[in-house]
Amino acid sequence: PVERASLDLEPLQRFHKLENTEYYDQTIFGPESGRLEFEATVSTSVDQIAIAPGYLQKEWTENDRRYFHYRMDAPIENYFSFMSGRYEALKTMHRGVSIEIYYHKTHGMNVPRMQQAVADSIDYFSENFGPYQHKQARIIEFPGYRDFAQSFPNTIAFSERIGFITDLSDESAIDQVYYVTAHEMAHQWWGGQVDGANVQGSTVITETLAQYSALMLTCKKYGDKKLRSILRFELDRYLRGRTQELVEELPLMRVENQPYIHYRKGSIAVMSLIDLLGEEKMNRALADFLAEFRFSDNPYPTTIDLLAYINREADEKEQEFIASIFSEISLYDLKAKELTVAALDNDEYEVTFTVDARRFEANGSGMETEAGLSEMIDIGLFLDNPDELSGGEEASAESRLVYLQKHEITGGENVIKVIVPEKPLYAGIDPFIKLIDRDSADNIIKL
Ligand SMILES: [Zn+2]
Repeated sequence: PVERASLDLEPLQRFHKLENTEYYDQTIFGPESGRLEFEATVSTSVDQIAIAPGYLQKEWTENDRRYFHYRMDAPIENYFSFMSGRYEALKTMHRGVSIEIYYHKTHGMNVPRMQQAVADSIDYFSENFGPYQHKQARIIEFPGYRDFAQSFPNTIAFSERIGFITDLSDESAIDQVYYVTAHEMAHQWWGGQVDGANVQGSTVITETLAQYSALMLTCKKYGDKKLRSILRFELDRYLRGRTQELVEELPLMRVENQPYIHYRKGSIAVMSLIDLLGEEKMNRALADFLAEFRFSDNPYPTTIDLLAYINREADEKEQEFIASIFSEISLYDLKAKELTVAALDNDEYEVTFTVDARRFEANGSGMETEAGLSEMIDIGLFLDNPDELSGGEEASAESRLVYLQKHEITGGENVIKVIVPEKPLYAGIDPFIKLIDRDSADNIIKL
């Protein structure tokens, strides 16, 4: 983009406009996308197992080669993988689904954890979004030349580097194996059952919703206090990503396959929706959206459709907030300024917490203008530094929390007074990172 500009050339159009209905009959894979019947016969060395999407129909050896014949029982997106290796396999049944993890003999340590994440995904996503469409869920290891995982129909290709040989001995760290497995399993729904039309916003339907699903599952397993370190990481990556944008930052709704937006900002955005609407309404919106577009390849849905389902669960004031996170580039600057605590006669404490709060709207090149602010924002009081809460067990994290409530916060200085039974040592505004804050490091103050 920079070079084109230096040569006085028009910028290339990265994506089709959201409103361009001409591209609603294809995904980002272009005119070749669409649902098709899938059948494949793959041959490999005699000591290896070859895997393609679909179900194994037949296996045989011929001329010193081993053959595998796979067929899928229903149309799939034009999107599949072929893998072959000398694999060990862990196979378990869960709710009528065969969970199968294929791994290199010496890489078995995290396999039970992945198996658990697949089972938990099948449970939570089926109950909340809609049924899993396959009778089998397979994860297949590949060597660490690349470090990604990718979800194909009933088949997930998974690098050894981000799962199989990940060191999980530090229990305070994020369980990346569980998180990545949940994200990839979520793509069996978001991507596998419903994909986005080939216009701006498409990757919200695949990547942002997969992030949402993985965050919810991780939250269920490890408690939402642990989310703070994930969300802080995502927020920092988003803020850094914005500074490296070469073309134009776009609102979430119009993201043009920009990972810092659909993964990083998207994670904060969907968790702020959970905070606003609650799990039940958010999941109902997603389930209804999925039900309308399940397996549809003409049209594929857009973020306009998704947003309509989310807005259906929201009142007018909530819809304003939803618009600000989907349709605008909205940034907060929340700052903890002063904390005083006075002991009262009845063994209680009066806390005075002063914060500074602002909200900005940015344009595509990062120019910010101050915008109005009048929102309910979390105020938390703690016995310990919330930055370290994520390190502890859920029970102790909860017990370190003295107070957590939403307060009406307006632009400028706000003074919050509350009476609490224990003497807090830390106070924070939006301490669990539910908003896009330009600097989340100054949200917490020590007494
Ligand atoms: Zn993904």
